[in-house]
Amino acid sequence: MKRWIAVFLAAALMLGGCAREEKAAQRTIWAMDTYMDLKIWGGDGEAAAEQIAGLLEELEDDWSATWQPSLLARLNRGELTSLPREKQAVLDRAEALSARTGGAFCPKLGAVSRAWGFYGQQYRVPAPAEVEAALAQEQWDLGAVLKGYAGDRAVEILSGLDVDRAVLNLGGNVQTFGEKPDGSPWNIAIRDPESWGTSAAVQVRGTASVVTSGSYQRCFEENGVRYHHILDPETGYPADSGLEAVTVICRDGMTADALSTALFVMGLEKAAEFWRQSDDFEAVFFLTDGRVVATEGAALYGCEFEVISR
Ligand code: AMP
Ligand code: MG
Repeated sequence: MKRWIAVFLAAALMLGGCAREEKAAQRTIWAMDTYMDLKIWGGDGEAAAEQIAGLLEELEDDWSATWQPSLLARLNRGELTSLPREKQAVLDRAEALSARTGGAFCPKLGAVSRAWGFYGQQYRVPAPAEVEAALAQEQWDLGAVLKGYAGDRAVEILSGLDVDRAVLNLGGNVQTFGEKPDGSPWNIAIRDPESWGTSAAVQVRGTASVVTSGSYQRCFEENGVRYHHILDPETGYPADSGLEAVTVICRDGMTADALSTALFVMGLEKAAEFWRQSDDFEAVFFLTDGRVVATEGAALYGCEFEVISR
């Protein structure tokens, strides 16, 4: 069976995009170790793009786990005893999302990611004792939610600038804003990198966040074994859950981002149960055996898939 890998790419992938006649403000930015594409229609799109670029810089200055002067790095070194209220609120939300997912999303795996060399691509397989010691350090790392949070903050900017609509591709996290003039939904493509063709897509309406966590996004191979960057907080080892990728569709970007990581860690069965007990997101699961499974409200099309119902 065909192996599926889901990856959201640049704005060029948006299917059936927006009214051709209206020109969008467009910008490509390198931030958070990835390319980000902004496409904004109506209002003062240029000003919005400028402000969003500034926002991305600010978020990186605050929350980069690898840039030593960042707020987060200083916090991890014990150099800060308290944070300004709005920054503490980000950490509080991360803690709340961790609790919601039973710890599958864990924002304190920084030392573990470092031990595996996922910071700075110094890949290595750490000794078990090293993994255990790193887990115990509980170093903050918001890598699993920062782009989603950036999407939420960008929406605040867009809302304040009278912009009509926008599609922001924040390194694979797609944030939509507003409605298309013809009232049709946004179509967010999912690609199979083996063919570089468009393989499938999800439809979303209005302002939404579409986020994918995939084992292929950062991984390395040693002695024939593939190790990837989504870690099981219980073991400190790459989550071996039978999933290749998970896509989450949710109004809230930070939630979507935390959940894509958490559902990946949980695996299909637990994740399906978690979805049944929730009412704020939909998900698409790409299994390592090639199957694709979508929750009933996911509005997935363009590929064969099984549906999970409530
Ligand atoms: P994402 O691509 O959103 O799934 O985030 C993955 C990134 O979050 C990794 O590169 C790590 O920095 C961090 N991370 C890895 N495993 C977890 C986890 N179980 N919970 C929270 N963050 C994680
Ligand atoms: Mg995530």
